[in-house]
Amino acid sequence: MPKQATRYYKVNPWKIIEEGFDKNRSMVSESIFSLANEYMGSRGNFEEGYSGESLVGNYFNGLYEVPERIETGGYLGISKKNHYMVNSVNSFYTRIYIDEKLIDLNKEKFSDFYRVLDLKTGLLTREYIFENKVKITFQKLISLKEYHNAYSILKIESLVDNVNVKVISGFDYSIVHFGKFAYWQIENHKEVENKGFIKAITKNTKMELFTTYEFITANNVKLNYYENEKIIGREIKFNLKNKETFELEKRITNYNLHKEKINEEEKSKKEITSFKEALKENEEFLTNFFETSDIEIVGDEVNQQGIRYSMFQLISTYQGLGLNNNIGAKGLTGEAYSGHAFWDTETYCLPFYLFNNPASAKDLLLFRYETLENAKARARELDCKGACYPIATLNGDEACNLWQHASLQFQPTSGVAYAIYHYVNVTNDTKFLEEYGLEMLIEISRFFASRGDYNGNHTAYGYYGVMGPDEFQMMVNHNTYTNYMAKRSFEYTISSLKFGEKTNNEAYHKILEKEKLETEEINTWLDMISKMKILYDENTKLFEQHAGYYDLPHIDIKKIPVTDFPLYAHWSYDHLYRNDMIKQPDVLMMMFLYNQSFTLEQKLKNYEFYEPRTIHESSLSPSVHSILALELGKEKEGLDFFGFATRMDLDDYNRNTCEGLHLTSICAAWLNIVYGFGGLRSDGETLVLKPTLPKSWQSYKFKFKYDNSNIEVNVGKNEIIINSSKEITVKLYDQITKIKGHYLWKK
Ligand code: BGC
Repeated sequence: MPKQATRYYKVNPWKIIEEGFDKNRSMVSESIFSLANEYMGSRGNFEEGYSGESLVGNYFNGLYEVPERIETGGYLGISKKNHYMVNSVNSFYTRIYIDEKLIDLNKEKFSDFYRVLDLKTGLLTREYIFENKVKITFQKLISLKEYHNAYSILKIESLVDNVNVKVISGFDYSIVHFGKFAYWQIENHKEVENKGFIKAITKNTKMELFTTYEFITANNVKLNYYENEKIIGREIKFNLKNKETFELEKRITNYNLHKEKINEEEKSKKEITSFKEALKENEEFLTNFFETSDIEIVGDEVNQQGIRYSMFQLISTYQGLGLNNNIGAKGLTGEAYSGHAFWDTETYCLPFYLFNNPASAKDLLLFRYETLENAKARARELDCKGACYPIATLNGDEACNLWQHASLQFQPTSGVAYAIYHYVNVTNDTKFLEEYGLEMLIEISRFFASRGDYNGNHTAYGYYGVMGPDEFQMMVNHNTYTNYMAKRSFEYTISSLKFGEKTNNEAYHKILEKEKLETEEINTWLDMISKMKILYDENTKLFEQHAGYYDLPHIDIKKIPVTDFPLYAHWSYDHLYRNDMIKQPDVLMMMFLYNQSFTLEQKLKNYEFYEPRTIHESSLSPSVHSILALELGKEKEGLDFFGFATRMDLDDYNRNTCEGLHLTSICAAWLNIVYGFGGLRSDGETLVLKPTLPKSWQSYKFKFKYDNSNIEVNVGKNEIIINSSKEITVKLYDQITKIKGHYLWKK
């Protein structure tokens, strides 16, 4: 893997610390120090402004804009819609003048720069000494409990006598998206002493954002109303004597009116919780979270920090607020990938939520239920029936304008079916299956029945002209992943129908009536299942990635110069498609998802064949390889791939963390520990645990929720201790084992 780590932050188990400021890392740090709470997210920009490279980014989940025109050419089926999470008000806007000089860390002299993100509270603190005259401290908090609330604290301490200070603190709506488009207009605003209310609206989608705020200071200073074009706030002028400190607290409440209907007058009168109280609540929230979900690695401080940071970002990005939100590939930390959710949600992210807060996993699936009509409309655009889920979306519509992805990739659709299966299998929430899951499954099966074809003599069924997870192979036939996942989707739909028939519940009959499903249709699915072409050779135990894959020209990927990476940026687009190089796991992804449906020998043969051909151009790739390598006893390879997972953003392995965090790959880091080292498997009747301990670790511990029980697995050199709050049944090293309370397993 041509990836290189740059260790920049101090290693600490519960903190991310930046000592001194490197301008070249500024954009990366903006991403790393992002804060979020699912509802909103904010990059770690310098509140006081910075004239160097920067992306001032503040985002709300599901608040989006659309381009005025989309150039897609005239062909039918090519998605003509687009939308993107729009950069929104900068509520942290601040400018500071010291003796009339504007603080700009890109231009002026400063020292003792220190920035720290505390993973136990979510508090971001930054301080420095400006021109030996004042010490500046900023604190920033996004409430994890009252998800509308955010806070900014500014402290200015004088180090000399008689410093003249001017502070402007406000709300900036002049913010531009993609560095050029100004989308926000202030509709109205009102000021009452130190409080204010602003309603702003987006240009094309007319989505409204309502913000209330309050400025608080104990200093005896006057807060003058300030307005400058699209910036509204307060201006404060004062003098500081030596050792005197000025402190300003800005309490902010944001309401995304596109998601929630609120009574604005009532909200304007509402007291905003203080920063101190919100900090306490955040600490409680995160203590609770880590108490039941923490991962502890003894003997590897570097990965310890990486995994805790990853988990902090995961719970900050999504907690299941019940607002029909999803998880963007970059979370709420940047504009790359446009805030869109991909198949990553169902295949990479769902397990983390499923095993830490099953209700939030259900919420993720409900997003797909709420957008079922959009998926049906998309299927019709593709001349098909049923529901085709989008490659990239915020609102359910396909927003990917690269036709080869949007029209040829069906892993989001099979991913939804897989996720329903996975969720129901782990939680046994059959009510969800009957009320929501079944309807989606029927529509998904209808899609797979209309998009596939029989071969000439009707002996085989499969998908022609598709692209599997390996995006370096376009318009292929019988991609094994696609065919296999469609087959399993049909099978699960049919077994769910049988389950409904057995339980005979009202919900099941309602769905049947709504869907007008006839036996004949089910029979066609059965025929497709029996004839589904799976390119498998019993002698070699290999699954061919797609028809003709073996004939492709071979590339020795080890010989590609490091300077050619990322390949997208250095090779012509078609160059990527003309050989057997693989972008990310395809056959191996199938073996990861339906892990227990394949023998160890099949996994070994396919791993050894496909791994050397895989370039890991997607950050989702290494963890799946690591998990399989560890299952196959290849500890060194497993560890090498894992090294990349937990610290991908902290160490900027891909050289693009500046654009935002790789949120869905962060989920893969969690998978890497729990499924990789912990050997957890959840695709069978019984939950499997098969922990292994890498030689370089002394021990590790992971926690999760399963079957209404809190479980802790402590893996040592010679023993494994499992604690379970209630009785659970697991397959521990291939033995069905009942565990309650404290359970000791000795090697
Ligand atoms: C990967 C896709 C993934 C997307 C968003 C792409 O580079 O190939 O599989 O869905 O990134 O993470």
